[in-house]
Amino acid sequence: MDFSFSRAELGFAEEARAWLEANLPAAWRRDHCWTRVEEPMWLEIARAWQRLLHHGGWAAVAWPREHGGRAATPVERWLFDQALDEVGAPRPPAASYVDLIGPALLRYGSEAQRRRFIRSLLSGEELWCQGFSEPGAGSDLAALRTRAERQGNTLVVNGQKVWTSHADIADWCFLLCRTEAEAPKHKGLSLLLVDMRSPGVTVRPLRQMTGEAEFCEVFFEDVRVPGELLVGAPGAGWQIAMGILAHERGPVWTFTFQRKIRRSLEDLLRTARAHPAGVRALRDPVLRQRLTQVWIEVELLRLAGYRSLTRLLRNAGEPGTESSIEKVLGSETDQHLQELALDVFGAYGPIVSGTHAIEGGDRPRAYLYSRSETIMGGTSEIQRSLIAQRLLGLPR
Ligand SMILES: Cc1cc2nc3c(=O)[nH]c(=O)nc-3n(C[C@H](O)[C@H](O)[C@H](O)COP(=O)(O)OP(=O)(O)OC[C@H]3O[C@@H](n4cnc5c(N)ncnc54)[C@H](O)[C@@H]3O)c2cc1C
Repeated sequence: MDFSFSRAELGFAEEARAWLEANLPAAWRRDHCWTRVEEPMWLEIARAWQRLLHHGGWAAVAWPREHGGRAATPVERWLFDQALDEVGAPRPPAASYVDLIGPALLRYGSEAQRRRFIRSLLSGEELWCQGFSEPGAGSDLAALRTRAERQGNTLVVNGQKVWTSHADIADWCFLLCRTEAEAPKHKGLSLLLVDMRSPGVTVRPLRQMTGEAEFCEVFFEDVRVPGELLVGAPGAGWQIAMGILAHERGPVWTFTFQRKIRRSLEDLLRTARAHPAGVRALRDPVLRQRLTQVWIEVELLRLAGYRSLTRLLRNAGEPGTESSIEKVLGSETDQHLQELALDVFGAYGPIVSGTHAIEGGDRPRAYLYSRSETIMGGTSEIQRSLIAQRLLGLPR
């Protein structure tokens, strides 16, 4: 593992910071990267910001230049994400999908698909959602039943997806569906690009226990999709989907998440020092042990991120099974932290509003949200099974 940066990498980071300083309007800055939870005007601001990033050539820094990127190395990409966080930029809704459907289009998409979708993906003009999970197919994704049947050059889609994040604001969905009913479970799947405004698409937001509605149910009823919107070969959907999921759990996720948890821990310590219940808690030997343990886990996550990044440099840019370690470590560390935060403030911890609420009620919200983190992008149980089978070589 090499912790030092080359001159080129340092030069890249300096250029990025200078551009961000010159182009991010002051009114859009916070003290860290922020999302819709923190600001009701997030979507409007974030879209405008994504447009600026695209015009400046910073929307997908690690992509090849011919597709609108800067051919940045994984280390430069990481430095850029860090710079975005330091200037407190909004996190555009397109950003995570640039990392998901983007690489799939570059690798498996047709020239016509790249011409049609890449520019609007990078500029945030069109937003995307990921249509994988179904009521009967989450961990066992290959059990999915949404089907697309060929009628001439059209594919007719019927079925239901669930937990589809941002489906309520998305223009397009990358949909994993069954195209070959007779083929073995993993072989009959394909990836299809579906216009969310097509007749027959119904989106119903789902309210979470935090009070927000970040994800939705999506119903497809005789939705007609032109055959040229199938990505890659028919039946290649599983392989493409696995590549997308590996990016969802790769080092980009690890570093973003690590910064979020570290900041949350620092905020907790600051708030605790200024609150009578917190001051008492910071003297409590058991709570002190737990605080120290979380700090160790946050540091471990940072180091695991470096290891992943080093591996990425050696593996020509593709995240491996090891990213499952970071997924488990990161999501479980945040849960430990948010449980601890409620305990630090005793009876004040769970108060969600009013003058007694800690950090304006953000703590209980963060606690409730953290429950989803060991589920999204593959549950902790599934990650542990992957680690057991692929890294430890244990029997299936
Ligand atoms: C915040 C959030 C956002 C999401 N966004 C999206 C999205 O945009 N698009 C999308 O397609 N999906 C999305 N999901 C869905 C997510 O991918 C699934 O929830 C996840 O894969 C688990 O599937 P499931 O909910 O069907 O649970 P299940 O698979 O039914 O699992 C239920 C429980 O059984 C355990 N289990 C299941 N199988 C095994 C096994 N073989 N061994 C051991 N334990 C097992 C699981 O670990 C879990 O504890 C999102 C989820 C969340 C929480």
